[in-house]
Amino acid sequence: MAEGNAYDAKAFDQKMEEVMGGGETNEYFTDWNETYESFDQMNLHENLLRGIYAYGFEKPSAIQQKGIVPFGKGLDVIQQAQSGTGKTATFCAGILQNLDYTLVECQALVLAPTRELAQQIEKVMRALGDYLNVKCHACVGGTSVREDTRILQSGVHVVVGTPGRVYDMLRRRALRADAIKMFVLDEADEMLSRGFKDQIYDIFQLLPPKIQVGVFSATLPPEALEITRKFMNKPVRILVKRDELTLEGIKQFYVNVEREDWKLDTLCDLYETLAITQSVIFANTRRKVDWLTDKMRERDHTVSATHGDMDQNTRDVIMREFRSGSSRVLITTDLLARGIDVQQVSLVINYDLPNNPENYLHRIGRSGRFGRKGVAINFVTNDDERLLQDIQRFYNTVIEELPSNIADLI
Ligand code: ADP
Repeated sequence: MAEGNAYDAKAFDQKMEEVMGGGETNEYFTDWNETYESFDQMNLHENLLRGIYAYGFEKPSAIQQKGIVPFGKGLDVIQQAQSGTGKTATFCAGILQNLDYTLVECQALVLAPTRELAQQIEKVMRALGDYLNVKCHACVGGTSVREDTRILQSGVHVVVGTPGRVYDMLRRRALRADAIKMFVLDEADEMLSRGFKDQIYDIFQLLPPKIQVGVFSATLPPEALEITRKFMNKPVRILVKRDELTLEGIKQFYVNVEREDWKLDTLCDLYETLAITQSVIFANTRRKVDWLTDKMRERDHTVSATHGDMDQNTRDVIMREFRSGSSRVLITTDLLARGIDVQQVSLVINYDLPNNPENYLHRIGRSGRFGRKGVAINFVTNDDERLLQDIQRFYNTVIEELPSNIADLI
């Protein structure tokens, strides 16, 4: 997703509404308004349900409530919702619902823009399909072609891959397309832009003519939407609006560190007392992020850092590592606050208070999508007291002093 100053969520939503909701476009889309509030109501295979619950999902997210059933029924779909809202599980469940398990041939092909993402999707597919004995394979560059060929020839139901390797495998006929009936583009905006578009067309040409197509993305610019018209058949469009952020359910505290110099020790003390699953630390400048990252590493803390000076690819990889849980502390700036959206994060630390109150909400607010709660801890120097007051007034909220039993609260 685009981040930073140029990104205006409201304007984007409005544009999407125009493109996807306009009267004349309705002929192009299939109407679909059904919503299922529990996985049980979706009429899914029993063993798929078992997989979903065993994976730890209790209640479907907004996109899952609307999106799993039509895709599972074999309809073409365009689904757009911000990242971290559960789109991956939506198309995985749809695919798993639709496979013929008596036939060990590739029936579904999922394409993603990066190797890491393809591998991550393959893991989710495998986990949700555990009780169905689904056979999946991640077909990505940078791995042995011979090994890929061997696995594909041994028989799989689903291939998740990056375009280059998948095209290669199709051309060599190591991956046979005859039985493929479902085709998914994840992060479709990226897949239909620049470098990838031609490759996607080439792959599409090699697939059987009557194929079900699912397009999933956080953002879908009009140009990308236009391309989808060429290979989709009256898709169901599902657009989940951005949830409003709220401070509800977030416990907010401050620590009076008095002086800037004492922040680092305070932070390290906190990490020593708390067993935190995942946390995000915000600092106000890129340099401070780099500095703090070095200092934390010197003290043997494993931390990740990301900010706008890094190229997009590096940022994506770092965010994916963090989302998947392989890194547990993320240090970053406001620039990325809006894009983070990580549900597992139990703690947000404002190492620096944000310079303007609006960023406070973007840093610590939650959409409460999966009902997760959080704790925010603000480091306050003597100079910051005024700012702390401003924030409390702005949100009509109370930020309390951090109690000594904080470990029990997280
Ligand atoms: P997206 O593909 O939209 O970026 P993901 O499918 O990766 O989002 O989901 C984001 C996070 O939310 C993942 O950690 C995932 O396991 C979790 N998640 C998705 N759906 C649910 C759900 N129904 N209940 C609880 N957690 C969920």
